[in-house]
Amino acid sequence: MEILQRLAEQLGEPLDSSQLASFARYGQLILEWNRRVNLTSVTDWDELQVRLFADSLALVPYVRRACAGASDTCRLVDIGTGAGIPGIPLKLALPWLEVTLVEATGKKVAFLEAALRALGLSGVSAIHARAETLAHDPRYRGAFDVATARAVAPLPALLELCLPFCRPGGWGIFPKGAEVDGELAGAGRALEILGARVVAVEPVPLEALRGTTIVVVRLERPVPEKYPRRPGMPAKRPL
Ligand code: SAH
Repeated sequence: MEILQRLAEQLGEPLDSSQLASFARYGQLILEWNRRVNLTSVTDWDELQVRLFADSLALVPYVRRACAGASDTCRLVDIGTGAGIPGIPLKLALPWLEVTLVEATGKKVAFLEAALRALGLSGVSAIHARAETLAHDPRYRGAFDVATARAVAPLPALLELCLPFCRPGGWGIFPKGAEVDGELAGAGRALEILGARVVAVEPVPLEALRGTTIVVVRLERPVPEKYPRRPGMPAKRPL
């Protein structure tokens, strides 16, 4: 985990030896399961440390800031988490964070459950659901301080899938790639309808993570009840 250790330091979020050991165990599990279940396109150890783990840790300073305004515990939801990215790395970096992982594919949820058990993590759960449905469950709607998602959908659809989980005053924190400018240009209507505004668009200042830009959105008021629309609609007919 030397690559991860160095990148975490450069991000200003150093990891101690027990955290690094957890990342190593988690990485082994991903590569092991990836032979049977299609979890990620990442297949080697170096790429795993950079593209999955360090890319997730780039969100840590933003999550810290967002959580500074939370009441007692800080709750984060990760929509379309796949193998647990970025939710599990965030939990390993910030043990006080309450994390809910949401994933539509059953086999990936089976992996998440096995990984959470193997890592002995508490205060993190995996839910097998589509965001469009779960966001209308009163136990989850408006219940989070932070919503995040990586590589799930372009921004307009992503906002509809994620923001209904946030409390008013809560945050969406999204890592994006090179396509970010076009997505932002097309997100005005979604932001207006959902009641949010973009507060920061910042490239990650690390050469190894060049191309990753973090978009921070603040929810100003409760999302209107009709959103998200039924499963598939946010992606098919983005706001
Ligand atoms: N966030 C992970 C996985 C990205 S792949 C990473 O960065 O590696 C996108 C994942 O989102 C897939 O596992 C897919 O099953 C899930 N997904 C897509 N749409 C979803 C939805 N509406 N609700 C829940 N999960 C969804």
